[in-house]
Amino acid sequence: MRGAIVTGGSRGIGRAIALELGRLGYGVLVNYVSQPDAANEVAAHLKEAGGMAVSVRGDVASARDRAMLIRTAVEKFGRLDLLVNNAGITSPGRKDLLEATEENWDLVFNTNLKGPFFLSQLAAREMVRQVREGTIPSGKIINVSSISGYAVSATRADYCMTKAAMGMMTRLFAQRLADEKIAVFEICPGVIESDMTAPVKAKYDKLIAEGLYPIRRWGRPEDVAKAVAAIVLDYFPFSTGQRFDVDGGFHIRSL
Ligand code: NAP
Repeated sequence: MRGAIVTGGSRGIGRAIALELGRLGYGVLVNYVSQPDAANEVAAHLKEAGGMAVSVRGDVASARDRAMLIRTAVEKFGRLDLLVNNAGITSPGRKDLLEATEENWDLVFNTNLKGPFFLSQLAAREMVRQVREGTIPSGKIINVSSISGYAVSATRADYCMTKAAMGMMTRLFAQRLADEKIAVFEICPGVIESDMTAPVKAKYDKLIAEGLYPIRRWGRPEDVAKAVAAIVLDYFPFSTGQRFDVDGGFHIRSL
């Protein structure tokens, strides 16, 4: 059975991705950091449907935890075909740019950028080894970035910058890993209903109704999971480093 790691697979977008991968026949390591019950529920659901799954606590910002996640996935599934870097946090307190703190910077950068970068490095080393020894035919890494990587929010500067850097990170790994049969993609979600956006629901209800973007509804975690499915089903065999916008058309500029 192909093996996948989904960071932050306990809730929201990561949960939908984990469930979709289970439907596609992947064994899934459902990573979480603070909500074991949510992660256990996802893993139980996957197992009830006949799949393999394990929920694993691990902070992506911790080097020790990152190594443990890769080791656990390989022990459990015998192979690692896919890493989805989904875990992420918004800027605590959403402070104005002029009040932004180094403490928040470190937390957001460690979780949203340093974690995915070094987890990708570990996953890539493992995938290279497995491709060369014939355990897996190819590997994939999918990074969940955000429209905040190019749309400015002055109350979430650190968050925006981590997501902008994730685009470059995607292209760096894509270029480096193409010869190793590992493809790397960025999925760029727009406004998606989840615990992360729950505190700003009223604000976005209004903006969406007023036409913030062409498709006037909230995005759903399943919208993002479907993009992951299209990639892992190999419908983009001649692509790598690609950004897929899952944003209701938010990226379209208009006059
Ligand atoms: P969410 O509902 O807040 O869920 C966040 C997930 O990440 C949870 O599973 C959480 O685990 C996990 N997590 C947080 N910090 C972690 C850490 N240090 N190590 C491991 N796991 C950690 O968020 P979401 O809305 O689904 O967002 C998922 C991703 O999509 C994020 O990268 C976010 O930036 C991106 N995104 C979201 C939106 C949106 O509108 N929602 C838009 C664009 C991009 P616990 O359950 O254990 O806390």
